[in-house]
Amino acid sequence: MGSGCLALNASFEPLTVLSVERALRLVIDRKAELLEAEEGRWMRSPRQALPYPAVIRLVRYVHVPRRFRRQVTNTFLFARDGYRCQYCGRHRNDLRPREFLTRDHVVPLSRGGVHDWTNVVTACSSCNNRKGNRLPQECGLKLRTTPREPNEVELVWAVRRLTPVQAKYIAMFYGAEALQALRRVTEEAENARLALVGEG
Ligand SMILES: [Zn+2]
Repeated sequence: MGSGCLALNASFEPLTVLSVERALRLVIDRKAELLEAEEGRWMRSPRQALPYPAVIRLVRYVHVPRRFRRQVTNTFLFARDGYRCQYCGRHRNDLRPREFLTRDHVVPLSRGGVHDWTNVVTACSSCNNRKGNRLPQECGLKLRTTPREPNEVELVWAVRRLTPVQAKYIAMFYGAEALQALRRVTEEAENARLALVGEG
């Protein structure tokens, strides 16, 4: 079962995840249309049973200003990079006891680099120390991927489950590849959570 209702912009761009109560309110107020309801599941009200919204679409297009986009945080950065050092390629689970994942500015801030998604990568503490205030090519390090800004949905859904119906709308807008990337991130988050539980 999903943990909320997927809300799409009028353009079908997936925007965010709402509580089902809030989603239903938007539909009742005619601010959104119900695209998909969960089969066999109902919201009870005193007078009637209402559909349980899985996907809604806003009637009017909402412009999402850039300042509302997600800031770089280690949680999302590590998830974007699959919990791997982008220089040596080692996964968090492959690090030695005193090593840990860090945030690295590809072009150091002290040399004019900016603090945004296209200039930050996940680096293990060893690679980060080795790099210091240099550019990767100045110390024989090579980036495995080109850093990019993750789309909103990857971030919003990084730690949630998608129902198959909701997944269909993500794939419709962003393509199957984005959906697969999302699934990898979700799996990683799930594994991390299980590992924490295991450590007690
Ligand atoms: Zn490394």
